[in-house]
Amino acid sequence: MNCPDCGSDQWKMASVVYDEGTTNTSSMAGGVGVGGDGPIGGVGGAKGTHTTGIAEKAKPPELKGTGSFLSHPLMFATGFFIVIAVIGNYFVGSGSESFSHSPFLTIFFKVIPFALGVFCMLGWFFTPNITEADQERYKTELGKYKKTKMCMRCGKLFRDQVAAGH
Ligand SMILES: [Zn+2]
Repeated sequence: MNCPDCGSDQWKMASVVYDEGTTNTSSMAGGVGVGGDGPIGGVGGAKGTHTTGIAEKAKPPELKGTGSFLSHPLMFATGFFIVIAVIGNYFVGSGSESFSHSPFLTIFFKVIPFALGVFCMLGWFFTPNITEADQERYKTELGKYKKTKMCMRCGKLFRDQVAAGH
């Protein structure tokens, strides 16, 4: 299989190009100097992924969530835990029976549901709603990506054409 654009047979799998052109960088720099008021020290760090231009073009697909904010699964989880915490808050610690003041009941019906509710709410607000359709699309794209080749001469991304009927 040659490049459909320039006919070159010099190609690599896109995933290989991406791996080769991507480096995880981690660097630290430190320094100490003497200023007017005494020694001054500083440490700076940088961490990140560096991707070359050609690797950027060959990058794999990303899983994107297109579901709506109001159908986010974590919205229901948030509601569920908050309702338990509200009910727990109403019953636990009230009344004269000593069991209602148990620290275990407080933890299980107030503290934990409240913490989980807050946790789910953060997830609800800050993570995309990934639907089954999104996952299917991602799987398809990833399958295509694994077969994608990149021409080393002109940079064209292409896949082997499967002739119909053969
Ligand atoms: Zn080419």
